[in-house]
Amino acid sequence: MSTPFWNKKLKCPFCNAEFETTRMRSNVIRIKEKMTDFGNIYEGENPYFYSITVCPNCTFAARNEDFQTVKPQYEPKVLETTKAIVKSGKKKPDIFGLGQSTPPVAAKRHELAIAFMKIRKYSDLGVQAGLLMHLVWIYRLMQDREKEKAAMADAAKAYQVYHEKGGELPENLGEPGVLYLIGDLHRRLGEYKEARRFYERALATKEIKSFPRIAEMTRDMMHIAKEMMEKEEGV
Ligand SMILES: [Zn+2]
Repeated sequence: MSTPFWNKKLKCPFCNAEFETTRMRSNVIRIKEKMTDFGNIYEGENPYFYSITVCPNCTFAARNEDFQTVKPQYEPKVLETTKAIVKSGKKKPDIFGLGQSTPPVAAKRHELAIAFMKIRKYSDLGVQAGLLMHLVWIYRLMQDREKEKAAMADAAKAYQVYHEKGGELPENLGEPGVLYLIGDLHRRLGEYKEARRFYERALATKEIKSFPRIAEMTRDMMHIAKEMMEKEEGV
């Protein structure tokens, strides 16, 4: 049997260092369970752990698909930051190993990618929100409830701004899916009133008929949120 991993050779667009990074083969991905916030539980290796590329020299980090398409000439702040990191000679976090990764390493790599996304001139709110969701699922896997909650609050906020600014919505979710997801994050945070507000907005969208699965999930979760709220009020 072949290994689920392979190492890709890359050149960092910011510092030009050549390095290798571990990628996971897509044909070995096995989904065991889907969660209500669209995350997956995997059997065997977890592709979330291998979705970020980090340069071991200057620490620039981005999604695998974005790493080499970033244009340094348009990203002065990132260039300045990566240069300062190389110059400082400070000890870097131990997150550059090849081969099988771990949830804490994956969390650190995502946090780095999010930090760089925030200082990028050409940053995509949808991508940023997606990175935060990865972080939510990794912390959930680690059973680090506090960090999971913080990431969920950040993700809910990011999706809300993204929706309000009218960014191009993910095709598989559409507007109903994004509103449902914001609602579901609030529900998981125990903010049932907010959760119901967003579930209702999802059901009121024009496109809801084109997303029958999301409509069903929204109704189910709205029911659960209502029950939880009544339970809390009853105490
Ligand atoms: Zn670099």
